[in-house]
Amino acid sequence: MFHRVRIRHVRALDDVETFIESMGSDVVAVFDVDNTLAPQGVAPDEFVILVNEAIDRFEGLPLVSRVIALTNGPPRGVERMISRGNKPWTTRRRLGLRGRHHRIVVVGDQLLTDGLLAWRLRATFLSLVIDDQNEAPRQATMRRVGRFLAGIFFRSTQ
Ligand SMILES: [Mg+2]
Repeated sequence: MFHRVRIRHVRALDDVETFIESMGSDVVAVFDVDNTLAPQGVAPDEFVILVNEAIDRFEGLPLVSRVIALTNGPPRGVERMISRGNKPWTTRRRLGLRGRHHRIVVVGDQLLTDGLLAWRLRATFLSLVIDDQNEAPRQATMRRVGRFLAGIFFRSTQ
């Protein structure tokens, strides 16, 4: 049967943390990177700092059993980030999620990649766009197209 997964729009990582606290224990948090943890076009050294800080922050939450930072982009100096991740088709195997049932939350700015990954994983999708002013036109277009999918694949949640 066709399923829909929960979607919620959040404004900051603080909201993500609050949401995770409502999920219970053993949460797997999958984060998109560009425009979710780091603004587009950020300097390379700042990128490394921001991504590592975010991973450390969520790994430090007792309810979180795993943090996965996942980008379709190239490696950029964060060894624990999964690069060229092939979202939304990333396999559970690649994510190390085989064989166990988790509560999974996917956090990202793009419905077409991050949102559909959440749908495939039957995870909750938290839509977080940290910078919608300076993003590349292609990214903005992708987000507009993605909105058409919202009612098909997702149901809003409080
Ligand atoms: Mg992104």
